[in-house]
Amino acid sequence: MRGTGKISQVMKSPFVFDVAALLRGSGIPENIQQSGPSPTRIGPEMIAIPEGGTVDVDAHLIPLGGGISVQATIQAQLKGQCSRCLRELTPFTSLNVSEVFAVDDDFITGDEAEDEDELPQVHQDSIDLLQPVIDAAGLNLPFNPLCTELGFSSCDDSDVPAPDGSVDDLDDDEDGEDTVDPRWAGLEKFL
Ligand SMILES: [Zn+2]
Repeated sequence: MRGTGKISQVMKSPFVFDVAALLRGSGIPENIQQSGPSPTRIGPEMIAIPEGGTVDVDAHLIPLGGGISVQATIQAQLKGQCSRCLRELTPFTSLNVSEVFAVDDDFITGDEAEDEDELPQVHQDSIDLLQPVIDAAGLNLPFNPLCTELGFSSCDDSDVPAPDGSVDDLDDDEDGEDTVDPRWAGLEKFL
């Protein structure tokens, strides 16, 4: 039996919000900020919020009839590598999440998943933003992160040619590219 207003906080995921008061309260939207270690690695192969990395979640929760609308901003430091020079990249990122959770009492409970597009549900007076955050990270974080896109002016200097290297020799082609050695002119038709 629940309804005491207190659930045991076994998980301290910053993505889990207790919405008991919202469900039974005055129906006024709430802003809730939570911080904590990310319960898992979140992001594509090359760059992600690391497991255990601190995540700040700023959520705006709006009670709806039969559901709760959540808009949240997630801020965290990423850990990854430049896909070109493999330098470690640790930029800060901000992800926006928007989701509606259905109140489970008004919907089917249990394992009957009729529709895969079903809304996520309020579970034991809590909502978990983890899956929406995973989805947002997959959409917004770069699959091929590059130094130049994430705060560095260029990749490792050793990999970048000097900006004013002496490449003048390449221009010499202009002078003679159309002149054919007369000795070979007669052979062109065989080429
Ligand atoms: Zn790089």
